[in-house]
Amino acid sequence: MPNYQTAISSKLPNASTSIFAVMSKLAHEEKAINLSQGYPDFPSSPELIDLVSQAMKEGFNQYAPMPGIFSLREAISDKIKTLYGTHYHPESEITVTAGATHAIYTIITALVQKNDEVIIFAPAYDCYDPTVRLNGGKTIELELKAPDFSVDWEEVKTSISEKTRMIIINTPHNPSGTVLSRQDMLKLEELVKNTNIIILSDEVYEHLIYDGLEHQSIARFPGLAERSFLVASFGKTFHNTGWKMGYCAGPKALMEEFRKVHQFNVFSVNHPVQKALATYLEDKAHYLSLPKFFQAKRDLFLDAIKDSKFRFKPSLGTYFQLLDFSQISQESDLELAKKWTKERKLASIPVSAFYNKRTDHKVLRFCFAKSDETILKGAEILNSIE
Ligand code: PMP
Ligand code: GLN
Repeated sequence: MPNYQTAISSKLPNASTSIFAVMSKLAHEEKAINLSQGYPDFPSSPELIDLVSQAMKEGFNQYAPMPGIFSLREAISDKIKTLYGTHYHPESEITVTAGATHAIYTIITALVQKNDEVIIFAPAYDCYDPTVRLNGGKTIELELKAPDFSVDWEEVKTSISEKTRMIIINTPHNPSGTVLSRQDMLKLEELVKNTNIIILSDEVYEHLIYDGLEHQSIARFPGLAERSFLVASFGKTFHNTGWKMGYCAGPKALMEEFRKVHQFNVFSVNHPVQKALATYLEDKAHYLSLPKFFQAKRDLFLDAIKDSKFRFKPSLGTYFQLLDFSQISQESDLELAKKWTKERKLASIPVSAFYNKRTDHKVLRFCFAKSDETILKGAEILNSIE
């Protein structure tokens, strides 16, 4: 194809291909065990798949209503009320989206204006910063503090200015596997009182939380819920990241702005899958069983590598485990992740990719949402690295 001659003024001049795509592609080419990108290697529920197929056969193959089908929004509203005690009205306060990424894009596009500041915490999930920049905003990236990746609320306080439009939080946290405590949420609530700050609360791993901890959803805190968007992902919850389904909940006035953008960047999302999810959500065990299921996988992984040279603190949430390799190598985490994919046939994610400044703490992220067999094969490779 001839080269495009017109000068392109890139809206994201420094953006490269996402690290998740890069590492999964390399793992595939190298036939390596892929503990990099966050997705399960075991099947989604056959019952859920049957429900989708049934909905297709019953004719739910045309556009769904713009905000999502009502029965699914009702089921989501019931779930949030049961778990976190707050009622979101299904008519006006919940919208079904094409995964959490789409919800995040829509929220930022609807609410962040030119020169607005958005506070994010690094290591941060990769889509926040570019989306803010695409909308003319500026990200203020604060680093979570070692060794627990905790938030320094004093630093947050001094970083808030008249320009601060939004704060993005993520709990349980990708990639660190830490969770925000009730105290953290109360501090945030206190800090944003009497401001115009909107919170985007990325809770895609809400059901993946371990050691008896309780997920501190934004919805539990009235002073936060009234100014927040809660973002969730069915892909993470029901082992089908490829379906790209999620939702967003928030107070009516915020949701009205959300929908103004939603209707133009997607209009509505997959109809038969919405039908199926509405039915599947009726059985609470489908998500309440997840902590036990994933904690067993985390424990299998950590027990298998306990005598390795990697240092770690057990992940408290998400399906990611960080491993510190500083006793093994001083190479950059990116170089090492690529090298081990090629030479050791084990793929991971370098945590520096989650920092704008590419801060390298000599830590790699491993996904344990895998069959026990895959986990043990990965562990065997880690044990052989000296
Ligand atoms: N936020 C975080 C923290 C994530 O790890 C992911 C990756 N799944 C997303 C958002 C995006 O979720 P989805 O696949 O539903 O778009
Ligand atoms: N959330 C997934 C992860 O952190 C990746 C999603 C994606 O590839 N965009 O690995």
